[in-house]
Amino acid sequence: MTIGILGGGQLGYMLALAGYPLDFHFRFLDPSPQAPVGRVASRVTAEYTDFEALEKFAHGLALVTYEFENVPVEALRFLQKLVPVYPSAQALETAQDRRSEKLLFQKLGIPTTKSAVINSAGELHQTVKKIGLPAILKTCRLGYDGKGQWVLRTGEDVERIKNEIPSAPLILEEFVKFSRELSILAVRARNGETAFYPLVENHHRDGILRLSLAPAPRLTEALQREAEAAARRVLESLDYVGVLAIELFECNGRLLANEMAPRVHNSGHWTIEGAVTSQFENHLRAVSGLPPGDTRTLGFSAMLNLIGELPDSNELLSVPGAHLHLYGKSLRSGRKVGHVTVRADSNEQLQQRLRQLPAFFQRPEFCLLDRFTNSAK
Ligand code: AMP
Repeated sequence: MTIGILGGGQLGYMLALAGYPLDFHFRFLDPSPQAPVGRVASRVTAEYTDFEALEKFAHGLALVTYEFENVPVEALRFLQKLVPVYPSAQALETAQDRRSEKLLFQKLGIPTTKSAVINSAGELHQTVKKIGLPAILKTCRLGYDGKGQWVLRTGEDVERIKNEIPSAPLILEEFVKFSRELSILAVRARNGETAFYPLVENHHRDGILRLSLAPAPRLTEALQREAEAAARRVLESLDYVGVLAIELFECNGRLLANEMAPRVHNSGHWTIEGAVTSQFENHLRAVSGLPPGDTRTLGFSAMLNLIGELPDSNELLSVPGAHLHLYGKSLRSGRKVGHVTVRADSNEQLQQRLRQLPAFFQRPEFCLLDRFTNSAK
């Protein structure tokens, strides 16, 4: 079976690696001739809105899925006339716009951050009055890794930002004083069967994920149940097929949904070594009509993102339980070029192994200090 994937970044690369043992073949479409999947699979270089190229791309495919959240919905609508597409165009459309995402959470009774839409800079003052300060202003569409976001703490910030913001629709959210950030990864098969990974604790710097801990430290059954119930409602309401990630804030022991991603997710990379079935294999199983695999963890894992620079492989891999994934991208500041997963049989052993990591990882941006502070609580 040949599976078509829109987007040829590291998520696609890891999907292909997970799919080969199942005898899946892959064809990718990405506008960049340098897309990382070029190393492992056939790749069509074309714009997502080049319908002629899409038609050729779809020829002979069993189905199409995607690893890039900003694929234009028109591309899916066009492809679904030729071949099954999972997750659906509706799921992608909902997740691409913070307004529709929030409306869906509200409709399903899933608590989310207090927010209001701003259609022009002239509405900013009035909306700030309604939401209060501090607040966070976000573009409704095309924001990622903290881009297209402005934190407003004072009246002066509001004045200054008025002249800087784009004319695109924006959403103003109350600034949540969360105790931590979590995410849940869920999978739903074509026959409706669902499976959930345990909640993961995520640490960011400058809006970019740096560290994920799985399972989340001090995870209670009640919190896991609450997250699964929310994810199940989203999966069912969208008749979703594939892996879905929901990013959450934990506030006073309860969860607030921030946003969702209709694809495999950076906070699920640990599942390659740290779960019985990886998120990548589970996504492929779901979209191809196979049953989801066991989502249980194999001990305790920490995933560290490599942003713009690489450690010494030799030093890193001398730490027991450390695994290195390099995406074959050129090094550029702010770019995700690889990740490391450290796996252990107990939380204590994990902490010990994290302390053993080379000095490269002990810098503040890797957030390991946050972890030790948190787990001491
Ligand atoms: P997002 O693009 O919505 O995932 O936001 C990126 C990061 O900004 C999140 O991971 C949080 O660390 C922070 N953030 C986003 N929304 C809020 C909010 N309403 N209150 C506080 N922090 C936020």
